[in-house]
Amino acid sequence: MSPPSPLPTLPPSFPIHWRGDLYYEHARIGRVFNHRRPDRYPLAVVEAKHEEHIVEAVKLANKLECRVSVRSGGHSWAAWSVRDDAILIDLGKYYELSYDAETHVAKVSPSITGRMLNTLLGHHGRLFPGGHCPDVGVGGFALQGGMGWNCKNWGWACERVLGVDVVTANGELVHCDKYENTDLYFAARGAGPGFPGIVTRFYLQTLPVFSCMRSAAYFYKKEDYRKAVSWITKLAEDYDQDTEIVAVSSFPGGGDELRVMVLLVTFKNSEEEARKALQVAEDSHPTGNVDGWFMKPTSLQSEYDDQAAANPEGHRYCVDNAYIDNDANVVSVMEKAFTTLPTKKSFTLWYSMAPCSRRPLPDMALSMQSDHYLALYTVWEHKHDDAGNRGWVQNIMQDVEKQSVGAYLGDSDFQVRQTRFWGQEQGQRLMKIRKERDPQGRICGFLDARDNSGADGLPNEHHWLQ
Ligand SMILES: Cc1cc2nc3c(=O)[nH]c(=O)nc-3n(C[C@H](O)[C@H](O)[C@H](O)COP(=O)(O)OP(=O)(O)OC[C@H]3O[C@@H](n4cnc5c(N)ncnc54)[C@H](O)[C@@H]3O)c2cc1C
Repeated sequence: MSPPSPLPTLPPSFPIHWRGDLYYEHARIGRVFNHRRPDRYPLAVVEAKHEEHIVEAVKLANKLECRVSVRSGGHSWAAWSVRDDAILIDLGKYYELSYDAETHVAKVSPSITGRMLNTLLGHHGRLFPGGHCPDVGVGGFALQGGMGWNCKNWGWACERVLGVDVVTANGELVHCDKYENTDLYFAARGAGPGFPGIVTRFYLQTLPVFSCMRSAAYFYKKEDYRKAVSWITKLAEDYDQDTEIVAVSSFPGGGDELRVMVLLVTFKNSEEEARKALQVAEDSHPTGNVDGWFMKPTSLQSEYDDQAAANPEGHRYCVDNAYIDNDANVVSVMEKAFTTLPTKKSFTLWYSMAPCSRRPLPDMALSMQSDHYLALYTVWEHKHDDAGNRGWVQNIMQDVEKQSVGAYLGDSDFQVRQTRFWGQEQGQRLMKIRKERDPQGRICGFLDARDNSGADGLPNEHHWLQ
């Protein structure tokens, strides 16, 4: 699709870059984190600076009868923002960030990152459990649920979304919360890229900050995978409520030895409390670890730095994930993913979700979870390694899917694999809301194999198992 001729009349200095313009290519992919760039070409990119630009861009798309896509932080692994023939609204230059000390609510535009938000909140003694990687945008993160800091105990980030302002598919600006536009409020907490509108502002409930963060880590040889992971998957279920627990396999420091690390990060207000929380792991961890630490002082900033180092910029990525069935033999299901990493920069992660995975969730679209979150992150540099790395992920997931209940939107690519992303009732309700709010499929929605899911959305079924 070529830009219309003559070009439509737009407000003066409207920040649009039509396909073919000099700056277009940079605007198309310059802010996409994954360097495995898509061969998809929007009609134009609007670099919105104000809410009015978003409204104007949606009205323009309606006039031209083309689709709209959105980019907040640009961290979707599958580059969902880059869609053929759509008007891509890039929110990277639209900044709003404020905090109300009386209500403890932060008002945040979607491209604000976790690090930006927590830097501001830190000055007020508050915290928002945003994404682990510092540069993930609140927009994509919160819409898909948000597996933030200590999610296993503090719950999903979207449970702290009190309201959203939205530009609807026909260009109307509305507020959504538990009283108004409740259908969109339901969808805004778990629809991910299938949200049928553009969020311009999130209202986020914050937590008091914790003054004493400490961690403990235990590194095991690959041969000890079963010993280490059997231990921690059992211990994690009802561990201390302010402690996040993860097991990661990687090649630390790019060395030759694959290691399985069990990491506990506790958020407390005194050394004594932190020690009490971590001591249980210290006392019970299996012998034979080759490295580790106990009660290491840490901070959100330092954890962000570690995450950024593990997910380097300028690289090619392929990821997938699954919630493993609580009744499965979790250690066996994850073994291949943990012990056969395809590159030295890749890593596999098990993230403990219990006990929150066992409690009923509020009435919201996010509705898929189990005690065990498994995610595969392959990281490499050169295009000629694409097939091998993507093949490794698919090969592992073919088997894992059989033992899974579904997956998390945030680490998924619907062009490769579809599965269950919501409970049955919530999934049906979400697709109904999509159809009602955007019958023409103006907002791009889920990027499936042919990018034609439109207003219908996703089937919410395991595909490989059929
Ligand atoms: C290095 C890295 C680390 C990560 N760590 C975590 C983590 O700890 N926890 C976790 O849960 N996830 C994590 N993720 C996944 C991440 O949260 C998702 O990829 C998320 O979609 C990224 O949001 P974004 O705004 O940065 O991405 P974008 O690519 O800008 O947005 C993704 C899609 O979300 C939709 N969207 C975004 N903003 C809006 C909006 N304002 N209105 C309507 N739709 C919108 C659009 O469909 C858009 O294409 C990580 C990803 C990366 C790359």
